[in-house]
Amino acid sequence: MAVKKVALACSVCGSRNYMVVKKPTRVERLEVKKFCKYCGNHTLHRETM
Ligand SMILES: [Zn+2]
Repeated sequence: MAVKKVALACSVCGSRNYMVVKKPTRVERLEVKKFCKYCGNHTLHRETM
């Protein structure tokens, strides 16, 4: 079974700060509030390809 790894990119500066393992059952686009070290703030991070 293939486990998909996706990067979470900051929606403000666009840097890919996190790698997460995405479960195949979750099809919706991930959006998580995480700390961005480049922005120095908690920003919205979105899944990227
Ligand atoms: Zn950022």
